[in-house]
Amino acid sequence: MKRTAIIAAVFLAALLANSVERASAAAASVADPMVEARARVGGLLPPGSEGWVNAQRKALEKRQPPAAAPARQPQKPPKPSTRAHPLYLKLTRGDPSARMVALTFDDGPHPEFTSKLLAVLDKYNVKATFFVVGKMAEKCPDLVRKELAAGHEIGNHTYSHANLAKLSESGAAAELKECEDTLREITGEKAKYCRPPGGRYDREAVIAASQMGLTTVLWTDNSADYLGLGERKLQRRVLSRVTPGGIILMHDGVQQTIDVLPAIIEKLRSKGYRFVTLSELQAEAAKRSNPAHTHA
Ligand SMILES: [Zn+2]
Repeated sequence: MKRTAIIAAVFLAALLANSVERASAAAASVADPMVEARARVGGLLPPGSEGWVNAQRKALEKRQPPAAAPARQPQKPPKPSTRAHPLYLKLTRGDPSARMVALTFDDGPHPEFTSKLLAVLDKYNVKATFFVVGKMAEKCPDLVRKELAAGHEIGNHTYSHANLAKLSESGAAAELKECEDTLREITGEKAKYCRPPGGRYDREAVIAASQMGLTTVLWTDNSADYLGLGERKLQRRVLSRVTPGGIILMHDGVQQTIDVLPAIIEKLRSKGYRFVTLSELQAEAAKRSNPAHTHA
C-alpha cells in the first residue's frame, strides 16, 4: 500500500512538471517584447534585476516607431532648357505657332536645273536653303556662289552623298569635313547646317556634325518629288502636309519640282505663310521660346 502511494506521487509529480514545462513554452511563444528580451539575454539575468529591467527597456525602445523624419522639401521640376545639348545639335522643325516654312533643296548644284530653280525663287522673292553635295559643288562652284548671292542659305549634304548611319563617327566626320572644306573654298563661309543624305543618321553622325559646329536638319514634310508623282499629286502632297514652322524637303535636279513650285508658293502665301531660310526659322523659334531675350 505504501509502495503504491509512492508510485502514484511520483507519477503525479511528473505529470505536473510536464504541464508546467508546456505552459512556460506556450508563454514563450507569445510575441511579447518582454519575453523576447529575456530570450535575447539568454536568461542569464535574473528576472527583476537591474540588468533584466534595462534589457527589457532596450527591447521596448527598439520596437518604438522611429521618430518622424523631417518633412522633405518637394522637389522642384528641372527648368526646361531651350538650348540643345552642345554635342547633339539637331533641328527638326521651327516654331509651330509661326506661319512660316523653310523650303529646302537637296543634292545640287545641278548644271541643268539649279539656274531654273533659282529663277523661280527669284521671281517670287523666296529665300530657301540648299543642301549641296561636296563633289557636285566642286563641279559647279559658280552655281553655289549664285545661290549665296541671291540670299539663299547653303548647307552641307556630305561630300559624296554618303549614308552617315553606316559610317563610324570618324567616317561621318570625314564626309562632312570634306564637304565643308569644299564649300569654304567656294564661298569663304562656314555652313551652319547639314542634312544626312536620305535622312539616314545615327547618334554618332549627329555628334560628329555637332563637333564641327553643324546642326543636323531633318524635315517635317517630305515632298517625295523624286518619285515622279506627277505635278498635281506632288502639289497636293506638299500642300496637304505643310504646317507652321515646317521644313519642306525637295530636290534640286527634278524638273517637276521647278514646274510645281510657283503654285505651291502662291497657295501657301495666300494662306499667310512666309518663306524663310533655316537660320531665320531657327532664330524665330528661339525668340519665341525665350521671349525675355527678344528685347533689344
Ligand atoms: Zn540627298
